[in-house]
Amino acid sequence: MSEYNRPTTEAEFEENFSQKRPLMNQTEAHYESSRCLFCYDAPCMNVCPTKIDIPLFIKQIHTGNLTGAAKTIYDANWLGNTCAKVCPTGVLCEGECVFNEQKLKPLEIGRLQHYATDALMESGRTLFTPGEPTGKKVAVIGAGPAGIACACELRMMGHEVTVFEAKKLPSGLTVHGIAPYKITNKDALKEMSYLQEQLGFKIQYESAITTRDQLRELENSYDAVFLGVGIGPTASLGLEGEDLDNVIGAVEFIEELRMKQHEMTVPDKVIVLGGGNTAMDAASECARMGAKDVNLAYRRSKEDMGAYDFEYDTIISSGARSMFNVQPIGIEKGGSGNATSGVRFIRTEMRNGRLEHMDGSEFVQECDLVIKATGQAKLAGFLSQVDGLELDAKNRIVVNEQTHQTGNPKYFAAGDAVNGGAEVVNAAAEGKVAARGIDGWLNSC
Ligand code: SF4
Repeated sequence: MSEYNRPTTEAEFEENFSQKRPLMNQTEAHYESSRCLFCYDAPCMNVCPTKIDIPLFIKQIHTGNLTGAAKTIYDANWLGNTCAKVCPTGVLCEGECVFNEQKLKPLEIGRLQHYATDALMESGRTLFTPGEPTGKKVAVIGAGPAGIACACELRMMGHEVTVFEAKKLPSGLTVHGIAPYKITNKDALKEMSYLQEQLGFKIQYESAITTRDQLRELENSYDAVFLGVGIGPTASLGLEGEDLDNVIGAVEFIEELRMKQHEMTVPDKVIVLGGGNTAMDAASECARMGAKDVNLAYRRSKEDMGAYDFEYDTIISSGARSMFNVQPIGIEKGGSGNATSGVRFIRTEMRNGRLEHMDGSEFVQECDLVIKATGQAKLAGFLSQVDGLELDAKNRIVVNEQTHQTGNPKYFAAGDAVNGGAEVVNAAAEGKVAARGIDGWLNSC
């Protein structure tokens, strides 16, 4: 049962969603950086998708060269501050730190990265200037991590960049889809402004690109187009009752929470359907919003969940509960109006390698809100309007791995639309690779 009180003010919201990795102070950073062994062929660095030179920036922190440390980070990853906060470091850099082999606490690489990049932004010092103008123009669709990383890298090469963003704010998933105890809106937007002020890419907000005509216009007005469109809204489960009030997709729920914060009301009894990291975020957020009975329901076993163990531990420590081997077969309508009163489940078990229903095991779990965290639809409809674009069987854009060029040579793509939904750091890394691919292609035209 959740022990959080319902937040009714901004201060109470911030208390319930206090940062999981708070900023280090100078003494902590000095001590923590002293522990690094500056390993040759550092495993922490090799596992990072953006290949940040981790031992180097830790050494720079330890010698008091915070600007140098931040530059080392941003040279590799344009979202260095954001990734310091939202990366699953326990399964990436910190998970590979050699200290783990000796059963010692790994270096707190994420918090050190946060410390250095925060110090840089607070200092107001700028590190980057755009390259000499090339006269080439690139349209970037989507101001998420892939789009912003691509835009920054293209500006360093001197190309003019305009980002077209459907929403009112940039940062994609970072602002709209990640639990606020990982990163606040303010922090995500701070890094965005810091980058935009130095590099001068333009962003047109509330400018969704959805039609074939709009795409044609971009193709005619720009030398290349980058697709950083992410993935679509929550997919339908095809369940009876799915259209009832208070049945919502996890992505939409998290976005509403990020925007409304303490002004959003979450009822007492919530069922979250799913076993991935988005399901964990939604369950933990409901508990922190004061819902008293939050149940995570997953159709397979705990071991089969796609979520990281530490994400599951977070929901349990925030007071949510879990039910495994239960599959939703309908959403119940109850009370007055058109609202849900519960989810009808059937128990499941593995038989001969197949997930089977257990006869006679149906039951109804009461709730006032159902959150579906069972996957997002791909934007196949939109993408089919790009001539020559190839999609794989899962409707992901097929790209050349070295350049991120698509089947249509004028289009490049990266991030969730290509990888199907990975971490912010993967999108940041791919966006940069795509920018280099665009640059190479523009230079060869
Ligand atoms: Fe430092 Fe650990 Fe990386 Fe070695 S693996 S360089 S000790 S952070």
